[in-house]
Amino acid sequence: MSETLFTKIINRQIPADIVYEDEHCFAIRDINPQAPVHLLLIPKKPIDRLSNAQAEDQALLGHLMLAVGTITRELKIENAFRLAVNNGADAGQSVFHLHLHILAGRALTWPPG
Ligand code: 5GP
Repeated sequence: MSETLFTKIINRQIPADIVYEDEHCFAIRDINPQAPVHLLLIPKKPIDRLSNAQAEDQALLGHLMLAVGTITRELKIENAFRLAVNNGADAGQSVFHLHLHILAGRALTWPPG
């Protein structure tokens, strides 16, 4: 897989507002926020989309979920946020390196549209 936009960000080739980083993942502020808080939580391993994750990625996927808790507690949004994954172009995915959108800071309607 060729280097993705998010791999370039983690390698500091492209600037971004990095709000969290550990051994396996990092979180940045989305450049085009859809809510007052809009983060992208990204595994350092460049899985192109969730549906292509493999059994060997099980621990990494669990790690991402726990990182959501850490990050949202740090930002004091742990009581009201939405997690979204766009999987595939028809679902709105535009960057083909798995990422979890964390949205908070406004009323979040349902269905999301
Ligand atoms: P997707 O549409 O693939 O689910 O989400 C990709 C997200 O990446 C979009 O919300 C888009 O605004 C964000 N994005 C695209 N390019 C950049 C960039 O260069 N920097 C940052 N911080 N976010 C980006």
